[in-house]
Amino acid sequence: MTAPQSDEMQLRAGLVRVMKKMAASGLNRGTSGNASVRFGDGILVTPSGIVPDLLDEDSIVEVAADGTTSPGAKRPSSEWRMHQRILEKRPDMNAVVHCHSRHATILACSHKPIAAIHYMVGVTGGTEVPVAPYEVFGTSELADTVVASLDGRLACLMANHGQIALGRNLDHAYALAEEVEEQAAVYYGTLLIGEPHILSDDQMAEIFNQFRGYGQKR
Ligand SMILES: [Zn+2]
Repeated sequence: MTAPQSDEMQLRAGLVRVMKKMAASGLNRGTSGNASVRFGDGILVTPSGIVPDLLDEDSIVEVAADGTTSPGAKRPSSEWRMHQRILEKRPDMNAVVHCHSRHATILACSHKPIAAIHYMVGVTGGTEVPVAPYEVFGTSELADTVVASLDGRLACLMANHGQIALGRNLDHAYALAEEVEEQAAVYYGTLLIGEPHILSDDQMAEIFNQFRGYGQKR
């Protein structure tokens, strides 16, 4: 067996880091949640059923485009198909993060999309964060409903399950998962108080315009 390339090792280390970060920040608990990055025609994905504390670079699993893994590799996350299909659909994105963060999961269990309660909902690429219909975890059907619900956006909730976010790289995908959880918590709070004020489509259009001019320019 040839030694892994250093960029592969960096990607594996990044996946270990993001799983530990999700556990430390409370976005995830125990063995739930998973993450992946594009790697050649396939993906590198976190393994099934290993707590973040016990993860290392060697536990990360390479899944080829045809779904096969190398002999001796650990079993990939049960959601590897979902990661693979999301990345197939978005060649401009390279990483996917899935977690069961509390407020996103509360809304997902109520089948309630995150409305445009705050302009930061717009960072997910749409005027709301939709809910993908319920399917059993780890199934091909779940992968399909999530891809269909994303529909060009960078995040969605998953009915009676959790949330998923994708990004240019792992840091971007993680930041979006964190933002989805924050906006879910804010929306949940306004629903408790009652009568949340939702931004209109016109107001959100202004936000998307503003985002285009935001940040450092070269
Ligand atoms: Zn899950």
